[in-house]
Amino acid sequence: MLEALPMPGVVIDQSEVIIGANTAARNLLGQRIEGRSYVTMLRQPSLLDAIEACLQYGKPRSAPYLSNDGAQHATFSVHVAQVPADDQASMVLLTFEDVTQVQQAGQMRRDFVANVSHELRTPLTALMGFIETLRGPARNDPAAQARFLGIMQDQAERMNRLVGDLLSLSRVEGDERVRPTAQVNLRECLASVVTMMMPLADEGNVTLVAELGEDPVTVAADRDQLVQVVCNLLENAIKYGSTGGTVTLQLSVDDYLRPLRGPGATIKVTDQGPGIDPIHLPRLTERFYRADNHRSRELGGTGLGLAIVKHIVSRHRGRLRIDSVLGQGTTVQVVLPWTPPEG
Ligand code: ATP
Ligand code: MG
Repeated sequence: MLEALPMPGVVIDQSEVIIGANTAARNLLGQRIEGRSYVTMLRQPSLLDAIEACLQYGKPRSAPYLSNDGAQHATFSVHVAQVPADDQASMVLLTFEDVTQVQQAGQMRRDFVANVSHELRTPLTALMGFIETLRGPARNDPAAQARFLGIMQDQAERMNRLVGDLLSLSRVEGDERVRPTAQVNLRECLASVVTMMMPLADEGNVTLVAELGEDPVTVAADRDQLVQVVCNLLENAIKYGSTGGTVTLQLSVDDYLRPLRGPGATIKVTDQGPGIDPIHLPRLTERFYRADNHRSRELGGTGLGLAIVKHIVSRHRGRLRIDSVLGQGTTVQVVLPWTPPEG
């Protein structure tokens, strides 16, 4: 019966000896635990108390159990319950439920709420400050009023962008498991994004070069989401690349791409900016992560752009790769499964 449990399970008798354990329990606690005293094998006070009380009074208990196999920590919630027996000598069954992920999810949720609140509070505090000034000291000063209203508009726009990004992130996460089915011509899609981004490139004095080839490139995709991916990548390249530099958008196809183990289309965005320090690379796609906090914030960044990109790419069963050399620039590549034309 123990072996049939979907979790580590251990049985202890009245003489405090472990008289049964399933494979999962032996993997967790040690291969030779049967026949040993539970006190020497479990060694965590709150769990020992729960077992002792249950052996004595028969009432079910729960206690946490922390394990560390050297590589990682795991947290279990252990349920301790009496197994009824015909004679007086009843036994106690321990079942170990792994609650590590539940705990991590809880921690992530708390971090997320804290981050969002913090990001919203900064512009909100500025807005409130200026409203007060406009009603007080600057009441009769049209020049100051015009200036403050300009700043207020910037701050309100920042909040609006943040809320927009959060909404699209939650939308993308919502349907991440649903594979897109529409057939999209990637070449045409990228061309339209380039047109869309031209004004931003001009504003940043950046030359935007597109090398998209002539042939249509068909992928199974959600067109709006792909537009968002390329927009976010180009926006980063233009914002963080160097003014006066060039940003290149390239599209190519291959019959075999190793990460996809099949045919793939590669979207490549290259800039000539200052690059990103390698220590930041692994964390760039985390929500709210900014490599150059000050500069990114100055440029209106919320740190959500690449998090959105990552989720969309993963929904499309693609891969995202960021390479950067300090002082030379950054290359971001997105590869997507591609259906080669027949014949
Ligand atoms: P958002 O895109 O939400 O407006 P953001 O641009 O700050 O905000 P991401 O797009 O996720 O956020 O980028 C995360 C960080 O990575 C940026 O803050 C920036 O520091 C760094 N970064 C991204 N792309 C580049 C790039 N091409 N060159 C240099 N740094 C970059
Ligand atoms: Mg960005």
